[in-house]
Amino acid sequence: MKDTPNQVQDIETLIKLQEAETEIVRLKGILEKFEKEKNKLCSKLKQFGMALEENKNNFVKASEICCDLEKEIKMIDDRIVKSNEKLKMVKTNKEYQLFLREVDDNKKRKDALETELIERLDEKEKIEGLVQESQKGFSLLEAQIESEQKDIEKKTVEDREMLDEYLESQAKIGKTLDPSLMNRFNKISKMNQGLAVVNVKNEVCMGCFMNIPPQLYIEVQRGKSLISCPQCSRILYYIKN
Ligand SMILES: [Zn+2]
Repeated sequence: MKDTPNQVQDIETLIKLQEAETEIVRLKGILEKFEKEKNKLCSKLKQFGMALEENKNNFVKASEICCDLEKEIKMIDDRIVKSNEKLKMVKTNKEYQLFLREVDDNKKRKDALETELIERLDEKEKIEGLVQESQKGFSLLEAQIESEQKDIEKKTVEDREMLDEYLESQAKIGKTLDPSLMNRFNKISKMNQGLAVVNVKNEVCMGCFMNIPPQLYIEVQRGKSLISCPQCSRILYYIKN
């Protein structure tokens, strides 16, 4: 790249641009971390919500089963009453035996259903306990997450404001730079996690910590042109102590 006469001023502008860029990268990193934390809390709550929903569905199913059993028992009860009434009116022994067996069969069936109902009611009660437990867990977590999110909001307000300020100053500085130089800065910044302009100390690039050739070091010290580190491509500058 050919040097232009205003590159001495350019290096000063680039240093300022780098200062803004460094802060932007730092603040974005902090805010991203908080965002991840927030997302983690949200997915945890979602998991709890799903478990709660499943328990509620299981409770509805268990209730339906119990209700069906109760209905069936009631039906059989009615049948037993009817059979008993018929028993009173029978005329032959054959009829008597027939209705007696009917009553007996229905009673057996009723016993079996009642045994099943007891088991099912027991199950239903257990599921109800699970629903209450998961509802409690969900509510607690929800409250905790709400307060933690408020905390995160509070903590990040200042960082967000600072980020906006740096973004604004980055844009302002960018406007004063030649677009091709701005491009160069952005490209190098992207390759190097936001660090495009670095100091050289004792012939060492403070970006990649490699020695730079002596001739190049002299040129950087002279500060009359924009020099890139041969290792990491970062734009180099020198500060006199
Ligand atoms: Zn370097």
